[in-house]
Amino acid sequence: MYTGLAMSCIFCKIADGSIPSTAVYSDDLAYAFADLHPQAPVHILIVPRQHLASMAETDQSHIALLGHLHWVATEIARTKQLGNGYRIVVNTGPDGGQTVDHLHLHLLGGRHLAWPPG
Ligand code: AMP
Ligand code: ZN
Repeated sequence: MYTGLAMSCIFCKIADGSIPSTAVYSDDLAYAFADLHPQAPVHILIVPRQHLASMAETDQSHIALLGHLHWVATEIARTKQLGNGYRIVVNTGPDGGQTVDHLHLHLLGGRHLAWPPG
């Protein structure tokens, strides 16, 4: 059951299983899956089950959820044995390079990642 913008949201559909994905982690608040076009040996997306378009839509009521998403990312990093380091990225808005309008954390690792990003 979708409401409003979530009706056409690809990550809402991935989180509820109506669009297939390679699951990495799942709980009541979050879902994590393999990125379709990986930019590193490990490239996982972590999304809230709740539809939020981007970080720009969050407020103080989302602090616990945002912490949970970061906890999920670090748990996956431990599972994937990224002891040498990794990067958590949240692209936000057009200038931030966001292409899917459902808040998501990228977990990237398994190779050295350059800085600054493009
Ligand atoms: P961003 O550019 O930060 O909005 O990231 C969107 C990410 O979603 C990109 O890395 C895409 O490769 C990824 N993506 C888009 N569609 C899918 C899909 N159906 N399954 C998995 N990853 C996807
Ligand atoms: Zn959504």
